Amino acid sequence: MSAKIENVVIVGTGCAGLTAAIYTARANLAPLVLEGVLPGGQLTTTSEVENFPGFPDGIDGFQLMQNLRKQAGKFGTRYESGTVVGLDTASWPYTLKLADREIKARTVIVATGASPRLTGIPGEKELYGGKGVTTCATCDGAFYRNMDVAVLGGGDSAAEEALFLTRFASKVFLVHRRDTLRASKIMADRVLAHPKIVPVWDTVPVAVEGVAQGAVSGLKMKNVKTGAESVLAVKGIFVAIGHVPNTAPFKSAVDTDDQGYFIPAHHSQVKTKTPGVYVAGDCADHHYRQAITAAGMGCQAAIEAERWLAAKGG
Ligand code: NAP
Repeated sequence: MSAKIENVVIVGTGCAGLTAAIYTARANLAPLVLEGVLPGGQLTTTSEVENFPGFPDGIDGFQLMQNLRKQAGKFGTRYESGTVVGLDTASWPYTLKLADREIKARTVIVATGASPRLTGIPGEKELYGGKGVTTCATCDGAFYRNMDVAVLGGGDSAAEEALFLTRFASKVFLVHRRDTLRASKIMADRVLAHPKIVPVWDTVPVAVEGVAQGAVSGLKMKNVKTGAESVLAVKGIFVAIGHVPNTAPFKSAVDTDDQGYFIPAHHSQVKTKTPGVYVAGDCADHHYRQAITAAGMGCQAAIEAERWLAAKGG
């Protein structure tokens, strides 16, 4: 175990974590960024990003994350691989526990993101990200202009995705495993009244078709009441069956809600009940979930960390 005490350890390398790195690095804090199992976060699984300000012709998601990583590195950010399994805040500086080592940190910015829940059906993984299966209508909806698409799920996210997709798609099939929506009444009413949205009740997805061609050609489904199987000829499948925030290792330092998302404190989006520990991005936000809002939270967390350290005497 090294005796070194880090000024700032940032956990996560998505938009939130890397923006926090740019800001804390430019503040001369020499941040250490811990990269987990998906360096670059959710954007690396998207193809074209068309809604990040500053890129009028769009930018490849992987490229955007490479750019952010390089930008943070230019100002002195250091990167290490490692998965955090716990954060001990009983004494300060705090101790991050990794599988193979411990790291002492004066401040910690947790930007671990959330993983979209997937169905696990055959073909889903193979055609995920740019090949027709996606979890983000805001990011990818515009690619399905005048095409038929399917949305999986019956909650507010599925309703929101379906409504957003009506701007582009010719028809939006909403495939739900029950015969009533879980979504709030106002969203459900809007969905069911929309002429482009076709609910497919009591139906579970069975397989994504098109693996051999490298692009989605249909969704095989099964009616849970009759057992009948059928295929929807859709080009896009939007999986909206919830997210799983990656917050478990930090639960003693940061409160979480009943779905596991971080609950910030002190009337701030990014401060927590533990001084010097901040949260940013999708692990603390199930409402907006955009690259630019995550980046904004990363910036806020970095500024808070910098000011807190300065107030403590650097
Ligand atoms: P959610 O409310 O948990 O809904 C998930 C949906 O996916 C449910 O309809 C569920 O079916 C279905 N589902 C789950 N696992 C499935 C599987 N393996 N196969 C097929 N279907 C499956 O998740 P969410 O819609 O992402 O919303 C999360 C939270 O954010 C909620 O509290 C929601 O109200 C909130 N939210 C709010 C807004 C808004 O207010 N505008 C927008 C988005 C999200 P069952 O219904 O049968 O369980």
